[in-house]
Order: sequence, then structure tokens, then C-alpha cells
Amino acid sequence: MSSHYDTIVIGAGPAGLTASSCLAEMGLKVLTLDEQNRIGGQIYRNVEKASVDNLVKMGPEYRRGLELGERFRKSGAEYSGNSSVWNVEPEGRVCFSKDGVSERITANYIVVATGAMERPMPFPGWTLPGVMGAGAVNGLAKDANLCPSGTVVLAGSGPLLLLEAALLIEKKVKIAAILETTPKLPSPAILPHLPMALFGTAFLMKGVKMLLDIKKSGVPHYKGVTNLKALGETALTGVEAECGSKKLNFSAEMLLVHFGVIPDSHIYRLFGCHMEWQKEQRYWYPSTDEWGRTNFEKIFAAGDGTGVSGALAAEFKGELAALEVASCLGLIPGYERDRLAEPVREAIKKDGYPRPLIDAFFAPDPKRFSFDDETVLCRCENVTVGDVRNTVKQGVTDVNEVKIITRSGMGPCQGRMCGPALGEIVAAELDSTIQKAGLLSVRPPLKQIPLSEVASMDIVSDGVDPANLFKNQSKKVGH
Ligand SMILES: Cc1cc2nc3c(=O)[nH]c(=O)nc-3n(C[C@H](O)[C@H](O)[C@H](O)COP(=O)(O)OP(=O)(O)OC[C@H]3O[C@@H](n4cnc5c(N)ncnc54)[C@H](O)[C@@H]3O)c2cc1C
Repeated sequence: MSSHYDTIVIGAGPAGLTASSCLAEMGLKVLTLDEQNRIGGQIYRNVEKASVDNLVKMGPEYRRGLELGERFRKSGAEYSGNSSVWNVEPEGRVCFSKDGVSERITANYIVVATGAMERPMPFPGWTLPGVMGAGAVNGLAKDANLCPSGTVVLAGSGPLLLLEAALLIEKKVKIAAILETTPKLPSPAILPHLPMALFGTAFLMKGVKMLLDIKKSGVPHYKGVTNLKALGETALTGVEAECGSKKLNFSAEMLLVHFGVIPDSHIYRLFGCHMEWQKEQRYWYPSTDEWGRTNFEKIFAAGDGTGVSGALAAEFKGELAALEVASCLGLIPGYERDRLAEPVREAIKKDGYPRPLIDAFFAPDPKRFSFDDETVLCRCENVTVGDVRNTVKQGVTDVNEVKIITRSGMGPCQGRMCGPALGEIVAAELDSTIQKAGLLSVRPPLKQIPLSEVASMDIVSDGVDPANLFKNQSKKVGH
């Protein structure tokens, strides 16, 4: 591995693979880093080593990953798996940890394509063993053909919840119930998006087929579910909820929850990227120009991390970022960049037709965040919702001050699990907006690494002050 590249791409999902392939095909020296040991990202996880059974069951959308993988392998881009990026500096430096050794390398440009994550949603009992993300179980199936044993309940909202339910039904997993928190009757807010969504019929038909498969299976499927609770002392034993006036109670060994997907914004906040708030889906995303360039000249963002729009759109966003990088490096003139970008932008537009409908249909209701005081919010530091509310009552108005006082968001996950709900709770308590409540700042190291690894890094010979590796860049975050 060199110490300098034309471009470093962080993430080997659809966005990162496409950006890397485009740039390497043009002859650039490209390094693609990913913390997973294999390429594919979330959707194409382990696709190159997938069993025939998985390739068939996961469908053509999954097999698309084989084409991306083949293009990437042929492109000449260098891949480094098991490489967790823990710092990005706007000047074009990246620190990452691989096999217990940390390195700091440089690039003319960096494309951050670190994707999305499932929206963490606290509710009573969510920290019990046996409660897992539906997406995490999907990942285990792709990675290792693992499947839940015992009785399962699925709960939450969003297309991926239904996708996972359909997959588990096909695998003959025993499902006690699907508890959808999506309202029984869709909000009128979806109506203006219906005409455009009809241009994306393939996607909508896939959804209809999934719903029909679920109905045919006979698995009880409730909509408009509220007051979800995971029951158990030391591990999950059951699930309780309400559906209208009906009380629901199920014995279960596993509760799979999913409340939609939000950009994994930590890495952007780490280097001080300006962030924007998506009102309908209630998430933060990095502010970029039409090519994916952030407020830093050398750093681009691509894929679902810039706003959740699905795997194909992620590919296209990766391609746009690559075209602008290639143009900046003098490989293609501006007019050629624009010519090549035109069909890509058209494809993004077409692919996006059903998206506003999906976003409106599965829009999280802010009331869903009105948890009981006793509910654990920060699972790393064992801070409850009540602790946060009491702090706000004492006059604290910013999530970062709440963090300092309660330690919510100060644990090893750096607020990945509690941050989104923390903002909602503080804003609701103040009867204010999320933007005013603020966004948790993020400091390096983004991922847990032993200090001995940092101490062993060869950075002093670069004239670097080791203290700068940990300086807080996120104070520059703009909302
Ligand atoms: C849990 C989960 C499961 C999903 N499953 C499906 C599905 O089955 N079908 C579907 O249509 N959509 C699915 N999605 C949505 C799907 O992820 C996206 O539409 C698509 O994968 C986005 O592509 P991307 O390239 O932007 O990011 P991703 O595919 O998420 O790729 C991002 C990559 O960045 C890497 N990365 C992140 N942080 C770091 C770091 N600090 N250092 C190094 N590497 C890093 C990750 O390991 C990952 O490989 C899922 C989303 C989630 C969160």
C-alpha cells in the first residue's frame, strides 16, 4: 500500500464501488477502504462468495452486486478490506485501522461512501438480548447463511421490514406476528406523490408482491401498532403492543425491529461537514453540491450517506462524484464531464420516481419519539429518557450540553444509537426544532481503537503533531 493516492474511496457498497471503478478505469491510482472484509456494502454484502441458494433467494437486485464487483476487480482499484476509517481530515488525510495497525495516508481527493444505518428507536426493553435490527439479521443471512431459530416477532416500519419478513417466511422461520407501526390509513401527504410514483411501477409491484406473500403465509400482520414493549428479565421472552383498542401479547425468542434507514452521518460530522435536516424522514445528511462535493474542496460524499435513495441511486451518485474528481484532476474537460453526467442525472431522476411516495408513506411520526421516562435512551452509558428531560428542565437547551451533563452519547458508539432520539427528545421538551436542539459533535477516533495503535503510528516523521489527530473538527458543523 502506498502512502498517497489520487483518490481514496471510503466504503465498498454500490456508491463506493462505482466511484472507485470509474476513477481507476481512467487510469487514476485509487484505494478503496472498507471495514467489512468483503466488498458489497449493505445490499450486496458478501455477494462474491454467496451460496447459489442466497443468490437465488435474494433475487436479481442482489445479483446486481456481482456485476459491480466484476467491474471493480477489473478496474485496477486497490481494495483494502477490514480497514476501519477512524479519522478524515479535510486537507485530504485518512486514518484507518487494519489488523491492529493504524495508518495515516493522503489523497488528492476523498470520496466518502459510507452508506446508511437502521434508525435506532428506543422503546421499553430494546436493550434486551434477543432484540435485534431486522437489517442486521439480513446481513447475517447474506454473510453466513444464518437464520433466526425459535419464534420471531417483527416490528416497526419501512420497506426493509416487509422485505425481511418475506425472506424469513420463505425460509420457514416461525413468525408469531408482524407489528407495523405505520398508520393503518396512509396520511393525505402521500397523495401529491402518487402520479409520479406510477412511473416507478417495477418497484411498487415488488412491494405489492411482498405484501401478497405475507398475506398468503397467514402470519398475523397488524398495522397502526403503538406502545411496543420487549418483555423479559435477562433476555427476550415476549412482545407486547397495542393495535387500536386491542392489546397484543406474543411469546418470542427474538424481536426484529426496523424503523427505516437514515444516513450514517458520523463520519461527515467528524470532519466538520455542513449538515442539513430532512424534514419528512427526520434525519441529518451532509450538504453537497450537484457532484457530491461537501463544503471541503477535497471531500466528496456519495450514496445513501447523502440521503437515502436506494442502491441504484447510490451507484449513480458514485459516478457523478467520480466524474467531477476526474475533471478536477485534469483527466476530462468540464464539457466532457457534463456530457457524461447527463444520462446519469436522467437515470437518477427516473429511479427516484417512487421515492417521495415511499418517504411520505413511511414518514416517522414525531409522536413516536414520546417515550416513557424510564426507557433507556443511551445504552452505552445507561441514561434514561427521564434523565435527559430533567436536564432540559434545568435550562439546558443543546444536545451537546445534555451530553456533557448526562453522558448520553459519550459511550463507545459515540451516540450512534441514542443521537437521533436524543435530538427529538430535547426538541420536544423545549417545544422547539431539531435544528435548534443541535447535533451531537463527533470526535476522532470514529471507531474504537487501542491507544497503543495510535502511539505506534509513524506520523511524527511527517511533521504531524499527534495531538492534532484528535482535535475536534466537528465544532465547525453548520446546520
Ligand atoms: C442494515 C441495512 C440493510 C440493508 N439491506 C438492504 C437490502 O437488503 N436491499 C435493499 O434494497 N437495500 C438495503 N439497504 C439499503 C441499502 O444499504 C442502500 O440502498 C445501499 O446499499 C446504499 O449503498 P451505499 O454504497 O451508499 O452504502 P452501503 O452499501 O451501506 O456501503 C457502505 C460501506 O461503507 C463501509 N463503511 C462504513 N463506515 C466505514 C468506516 N468508518 N470505515 C470503513 N468502511 C466503512 C461499510 O462497511 C459499507 O460496506 C440496507 C440498509 C441497511 C442500513
